[in-house]
Amino acid sequence: MSTPTDALQRLRRVHEDAVLSALRSAGALSRAQLTERTGLSRTTLFAIVSDLMERGAVIETEAAPAEPRGRGRPATLVSLNPAAGLLLGLDLGRGRVRLAVANAAHQVVATASAGLPEGTGPLEQAEAAVRLVREVAAERGVGLGALEAVGLGLVGVVDEHVPAVTLTGPGAATGRTTPASPASGEPGPGAARVPARYLPLVLRVAEEFGVRVAVDNNARLAALAEATWGVARPVRDMVYVRWSVGVGGGFLSGGRLLRGAHGAGGELGHVSLDPAGPPCHCGGRGCLEGRIGGQRLLDACAARGVPLANLDALVTAAQDRVPAVCAVVAEAAADLGRVLAGTVTQLDPALVVVGGELAALGSLVLDPIRDAISGQALPRSPRQIEVTQADLGVNASAMGAIALLLHEEPSIPAHLRPAIP
Ligand SMILES: [Zn+2]
Repeated sequence: MSTPTDALQRLRRVHEDAVLSALRSAGALSRAQLTERTGLSRTTLFAIVSDLMERGAVIETEAAPAEPRGRGRPATLVSLNPAAGLLLGLDLGRGRVRLAVANAAHQVVATASAGLPEGTGPLEQAEAAVRLVREVAAERGVGLGALEAVGLGLVGVVDEHVPAVTLTGPGAATGRTTPASPASGEPGPGAARVPARYLPLVLRVAEEFGVRVAVDNNARLAALAEATWGVARPVRDMVYVRWSVGVGGGFLSGGRLLRGAHGAGGELGHVSLDPAGPPCHCGGRGCLEGRIGGQRLLDACAARGVPLANLDALVTAAQDRVPAVCAVVAEAAADLGRVLAGTVTQLDPALVVVGGELAALGSLVLDPIRDAISGQALPRSPRQIEVTQADLGVNASAMGAIALLLHEEPSIPAHLRPAIP
């Protein structure tokens, strides 16, 4: 429910956006120039600027002395704070943690990764992530003092919107958590909502860096990254699938990521192709992931006389056109295509993006998917649905965690969001 306070906060954010976007496009400006450019009243403008200064988003500088001033007082200019605005994206996947760091201009300035032993628990994942961040910061001279926020990509059902727990920035630093009131609406500044099972992990990261933390499923984040920096930039309606050891996905509709009512939106890998099939770790049977996931592909190759050590070896063998491996991949791609055809029928995207290790196989993977979509997804409707390989590679989810902060986190200062062209 919207209250007068919510409305005032929204209005304030609109005013902040106007000020920050003027500074972003024009550089340093005096308060008088800002008043003129934003159309805000002098009183409002002064209040917004001092609040932004308090939060470290903007700084004051003196105008060059060459600039003539009628009454002898040097003009004070306001500009974006160049030392603010580092964003950290962490992807805590199966067996590996990856990170990406973006500066205030939204350029990714560092990426890195570290392996995790099998069966690593959430807290150990958090510790490994913290170690990696500290190492990268020391090696590449990244000043973590300018860190604004952390985006976290996690495996499985992640629902940012179910108010399981709210962490506040300073509260998180002391380990204090408060249950969110369902009536409280939007999280306030410095708040992130996470399901309880991820709480220790998120708390650890928030405590370490003392900034707000936003979380989402890492396949959805990869979709968001492709829409922000990758192949899906021109479209607003997109189906993304990540085909790797597991099978995950993310859907964009009208430019927004679909999370669903329970945080399970995009779970393509758990669409059942056979209700009587083998049990899946999700509790279902005959899931797509069980038929085409990395381990299943390796088993199928071994059964056809081509034992392979891992997914990378499988991709190499397929690139070398080993017939049995190509057959296994093509059959699996046809299964994936069947599921995607259903998704495409229901969502009507402009683009289907295939990421993950298997996407490197190009037409061997993409053609069976194209065939399935053109044959099964409203074949008589004249629609142009492109099926293409993802752009961003292994860092997509870590970059997507940054994109999450840029797009979705309401408390992020507007100067950190991408400019709207
Ligand atoms: Zn399943």
